[in-house]
Amino acid sequence: MKVVISADMEGTCGVVSWMHVTPPEYPGKGEPINQSEYNRARGWMTAEVNAAVAGAMDAGAEEVIVCDSHDGARNLIPEELDPRCRFVTGGEKPLSMAQGVDLPGVGAFMYTGYHARAGTPLAPLAHTWTRTLNDIRLNGDSIGEFGINAIVAGHFGVPVVMISGDEKAVAQTKALLGEQVVGVVVKEGLSTTAAIHLHPEVARQRIRDGARLAVERIGDARVFALPEGATIELDYDHQSRADQVAKLTEFTRVGERTVAYQPADGLEFLRLFKNAMEVAGITLSP
Ligand SMILES: [Zn+2]
Repeated sequence: MKVVISADMEGTCGVVSWMHVTPPEYPGKGEPINQSEYNRARGWMTAEVNAAVAGAMDAGAEEVIVCDSHDGARNLIPEELDPRCRFVTGGEKPLSMAQGVDLPGVGAFMYTGYHARAGTPLAPLAHTWTRTLNDIRLNGDSIGEFGINAIVAGHFGVPVVMISGDEKAVAQTKALLGEQVVGVVVKEGLSTTAAIHLHPEVARQRIRDGARLAVERIGDARVFALPEGATIELDYDHQSRADQVAKLTEFTRVGERTVAYQPADGLEFLRLFKNAMEVAGITLSP
């Protein structure tokens, strides 16, 4: 069995600031760029990915493919990666944060460095996709990036089996996808920009153990498929974004800052979501 790891950055042990996670070409809103802090955090992220690769390999995975899933997707440090993995980097990937789940033989999908969904109190760097989206709901239930990517993987029959991140990200993922998902908490949130962390080496050992357990328990895994006739709602931070997205034929305006659509399947779900985000982003971009 092959395993795909979607590696985000905000949920990494040691990370609490937008400075840690903002590449120089993607300036945050008002926060200063700090390239040395960012470069250190890239190393922490890469080390957590390596722990998950090792755990999957410990349990007999045939191959591990790592998808860099954070802004710009050029965050992992290639020469520091476990030589047993292949990796995906770069932007505008067809499957975005879930690139690789369509490859033949992939049977498990893992999240490292994941964060809580937009709006979560006291959760480090919590957001969903961008800081301009207030919420995304599937049939009324709020989902975060952990839900978006689970739907894409589900389209290919691949289950999410592990998540590592802060304690709220882990709890939200298990609440949506099921208790069978192995959760590894590497820090507990104290605010949007504060946490109490495990030591990084302890966090990495727990991720390795969690990844191994998740592959060993593949029999318990559950695919998260988009329900037939599902309605997706997107809440933006400003009505003008919803104005723009509502002009797309597939979307309906259902609230002051809210649009809705009904994708036919998990791939259309992602394609239309990305279209909407692009159209909404252009509205207020400088
Ligand atoms: Zn990210």
